[in-house]
Amino acid sequence: MSEIPLSQPDITDAEIEAVTSVLRSGRLSIGPRQDLFEQLVAERAGRQHGIAVSSGTAGLHLAMLALGVGPGDEVITTPFSFIASANCILMAGAVPVFVDIDPQSMNLDPARLEAAITPKTKAIIAVEVFGNPRHMEKIEQIAQQHEIPLVEDACEGMGGICHGRPVGNFGRVSVFGFYPNKQVTTGEGGMIVTDDSRLAEACRSLRNQGRPSGNYQSHGTLNRGGVWLEHESLGYNYRLSEIAAGLGIAQMNRLDEMLDARRRVAGMYMRRLMDWDDLVIPTVEPNCEGDMSWFVYVVRLNSSYGKTERDRIITGMRRHEVGASNYFPCIHLQPFYRQQHGFKKGDYPIAESISERTIALPFFNKMDETQVELVCHTLKVMIQREQLLKR
Ligand SMILES: *Cc1c(COP(=O)(O)O)cnc(C)c1O
Repeated sequence: MSEIPLSQPDITDAEIEAVTSVLRSGRLSIGPRQDLFEQLVAERAGRQHGIAVSSGTAGLHLAMLALGVGPGDEVITTPFSFIASANCILMAGAVPVFVDIDPQSMNLDPARLEAAITPKTKAIIAVEVFGNPRHMEKIEQIAQQHEIPLVEDACEGMGGICHGRPVGNFGRVSVFGFYPNKQVTTGEGGMIVTDDSRLAEACRSLRNQGRPSGNYQSHGTLNRGGVWLEHESLGYNYRLSEIAAGLGIAQMNRLDEMLDARRRVAGMYMRRLMDWDDLVIPTVEPNCEGDMSWFVYVVRLNSSYGKTERDRIITGMRRHEVGASNYFPCIHLQPFYRQQHGFKKGDYPIAESISERTIALPFFNKMDETQVELVCHTLKVMIQREQLLKR
């Protein structure tokens, strides 16, 4: 049996066809695929505008800038996420303020949110960690009460539904990511979605070198329009290529089929792991039941275990060619957050305790029963070995 990877993109002939047809068209950037891809993602999120960008991180960075976040501002976020959901705050020159998580959903705990709001709070970034949309609605309500814009980092939740609303529909602006381990991939890529026309315009301009927004011409039309070399502000090249957008369209067309496949794999794990006392397995919020978009399948060891045991289990699984990983180490404990921003162990005890015990298991659309069985068996052997060592 060969290695079982942690994740694997789901690429069919439809995607290959979509990409080759872009190559044949001769138009490789700023074209009709970008527009259509933006439309498809915005529609899925129930938003009016979609702005395709080169990565989820680029999208979060632009969301910060478009909201006017800058030096002297504070932005609230979760310490238990991929690092981009806090780095975007630093990129804008502002200060990240972390709020500890709810241990059940592992998302930012709304009960702790208000205590972290100060007159300097310029935005709140909330994440559907591992695809779980729990608390997003509550966080949105709190943000509204305090008139602080909410940024939904929807990079792990594409296709999910909560309280009847799609992921990507919460707050002032939402951002998706399309790295190859996400539910939808464009190789590299991201998408900002919003109902706010001015914010959308600002993002369009910023992703395109600060060119006047509404200028969709590419270099081919600049002689006529004369605006290709006109720059209104400090912008970035955060555009998404037509090749990537073509891939994204093909993936969006298969989204429901892919989400079903992921739900099926999550179900296979759940049936096998449900009764293990050593593990806490992911639960789906009652209001979202059946509609969660599974990003990864992350279990955690119960509180009788610690980081040493967890790390040994992951190493052991990898030695048996089972991809497993430690999603996520706490952001505030990353070396440069400690050294340059003064965070330390103990600052966010719930996030820390949980992040020391998580194990991401292999999870991808085409996983079959045999592979799931093998992963669970390997996990069990590794846990049993830890139990023997404990005695
Ligand atoms: C994947 C991800 C991003 C964006 O990542 P990119 O690699 O820049 O596309 C942002 N936030 C979270 C929570 C993510 O999981």
